[in-house]
Amino acid sequence: MYSDLFGKTAVVTGGSKGIGNAISRRLAEEKMSVVINYNSGSGQAEQTVEELNKAGGKAIAVQADVGTESGVQSLLDAAVEHFGGLDVWINNAGMENRAQTHELSLEDWEKVMNVNLTGVFLGAKTAINHYLAHNKKGTIINMSSVHQRIPWPTFAHYAASKGGVKLFTETIALEYAKRGIRVNAIAPGAIQTPINAEKFADPEQKQSTLNLIPINYIGKPEEVAAAAAWLASNESSYVTGTTIFVDGGMSLYPEFSEGNG
Ligand code: NAD
Repeated sequence: MYSDLFGKTAVVTGGSKGIGNAISRRLAEEKMSVVINYNSGSGQAEQTVEELNKAGGKAIAVQADVGTESGVQSLLDAAVEHFGGLDVWINNAGMENRAQTHELSLEDWEKVMNVNLTGVFLGAKTAINHYLAHNKKGTIINMSSVHQRIPWPTFAHYAASKGGVKLFTETIALEYAKRGIRVNAIAPGAIQTPINAEKFADPEQKQSTLNLIPINYIGKPEEVAAAAAWLASNESSYVTGTTIFVDGGMSLYPEFSEGNG
């Protein structure tokens, strides 16, 4: 538990399922008030809110498309209206789809960029404006991926968006460090969530992913949420512009694990 988080407010984009849901739950356990954003289908977000509030937490579900200025503004407005402000903004929402690059449509490229990169820009901009207006030491956490470092054929748009998140994170961390705003990223490896449920339901595909993970299991969303809670807290007060890899060693070139090469 991080006692400094008690009573503070977080916005978690794409918080209805997967990693965002685990982060929302973890921050509520840390006694934070949480705005849980969903884009479509309120069911899982509302159910999470109900569970958290029943357990004594403070959470609300808010529909918004993170790729729009009005969407992210409505998330900040909800945080201010219901919980009196904002302390932690987590740009978690993301999407992916597979296509060979020579067949990738402009529409699919733009969809992925809009959520994964423009959404991160808009969320960060909204949070920074709030922190500056209130002279507040807020934090921002951006959900990147190991594919900010590892190329990923047939997911060029996804990899490009996460590479963009890396340098965006580092740039704004530098730009606002003197204003007391910390900005970091998390790069998950393979984590069991709805985004890849179909893939990991196939034993062959699951094994081929496991071959890339030195720690030898598919990560749990809670293991990513633990990094998010630490980055949100004052325990990481001297950390900014960094990406924490939560990947079971996936980014360590596992092909070289037997000393080959
Ligand atoms: P997920 O599909 O379970 O969740 C993604 C969330 O983003 C969903 O709640 C979805 O509704 C939301 N979302 C999508 N478009 C949105 C929009 N326009 N506005 C608001 N919300 C929107 O996926 P996940 O695995 O939990 O992924 C969460 C983040 O972690 C993503 O940024 C993803 O790229 C990243 N990530 C995941 C993995 C993994 O293995 N699961 C690995 C690396 C990075």
